Amino acid sequence: PLVLGIETSCDETGVGIVRGTDLLANTIASSMEEHARYGGVVPEVAARAHLEALGPAIRQALDEASVSLADLDAVAVTSGPGLAGALMVGVGAAKALSISLGVPLYGVNHLVGHVGADLLDDRAPLETPTVALLVSGGHTSLLLVRDLVSDVELLGETIDDAAGEAFDKVARLLGLPYPGGPEIDRAAIGGDPDSIRFPRGLTKPKDLERHRYDFSFSGLKTAVARWVERAEAAGDEVPLADVAASFREAVVDVLVGKAIAACVDLGVPRLLLGGGVVANARLRQVAEQRADAAGISLRIPPFSLCTDNGAMIAALGAKLIMAGHEASGLGFGADSTLPVTDIRV
Ligand code: ATP
Ligand code: MG
Ligand code: FE
Repeated sequence: PLVLGIETSCDETGVGIVRGTDLLANTIASSMEEHARYGGVVPEVAARAHLEALGPAIRQALDEASVSLADLDAVAVTSGPGLAGALMVGVGAAKALSISLGVPLYGVNHLVGHVGADLLDDRAPLETPTVALLVSGGHTSLLLVRDLVSDVELLGETIDDAAGEAFDKVARLLGLPYPGGPEIDRAAIGGDPDSIRFPRGLTKPKDLERHRYDFSFSGLKTAVARWVERAEAAGDEVPLADVAASFREAVVDVLVGKAIAACVDLGVPRLLLGGGVVANARLRQVAEQRADAAGISLRIPPFSLCTDNGAMIAALGAKLIMAGHEASGLGFGADSTLPVTDIRV
């Protein structure tokens, strides 16, 4: 089926078009720059930006795919989780398209969409069961995907900051601009990742009892702040490269450690990575090394499919159709806390 997917859960306005598992178009407009001066995504600003960007993005995606609206078999849209006002823009537009074209509408889960992105990677089809680690500015979630359209389980998630958010906050306290991920990466060049032993959240035996697959990054952020304050108070020059490299190492160590542990515990020899933090070269490197050592096959979709995009939403919609699932109807809303077990609404 030819499916148009709309994604507006955060600061990317994404419109994708797929035919089955073939990617035809993936248009993305980001309002990231508008949020830069606030040091993070401002919900109201994001919603207004979607309203302006969505129409042109739909036009552009249709052009890119060389199809017309009349060719579409269905529309898919992110109904949650995400920023409520931002989601509403996409859901409203998707309903209008569905009504006017007379095609079914699928409201789908953003997090499951990130896993669905792998369907479009033409190196090999998505294999299940798989563990998926989704790391971005808004979420840090570890999923067990037994079947993409019928059986997804949340193993764990962050109990405070998301991994990307930790990069953004630590960059800010080091005086670096937003978004922090690429800045920390740059600052870490030449730094020694073992020079400062920053805390690894929720990895003590006692924490593991209740939070085996959960994450926590706020203690790490505080530890970096304290370390820098102490160095400054002592009149020492802050070794930026060492601090950045050591901080990044602490984040990567916990992310990869818990993801691999889940694979081993559950006997699932596959790990999929997704989300904007996947841009981090050190994360990919450590994941490759440890997956290799544990006999786990690692999948990382192309970066344009790792960050928020409409193609992954279209892909999940197409997969639901091919699996014979019913459409969502027109009565659903935007659910900012939609649980991952609700693959579609
Ligand atoms: P959502 O959480 O809804 O998926 P988002 O917009 O917050 O949306 P993305 O756009 O997928 O998330 O990713 C942005 C985040 O990724 C930012 O927090 C940014 O700092 C982080 N990031 C980008 N590049 C890197 C990098 N090289 N290393 C670490 N983090 C990075
Ligand atoms: Mg984003
Ligand atoms: Fe996302």
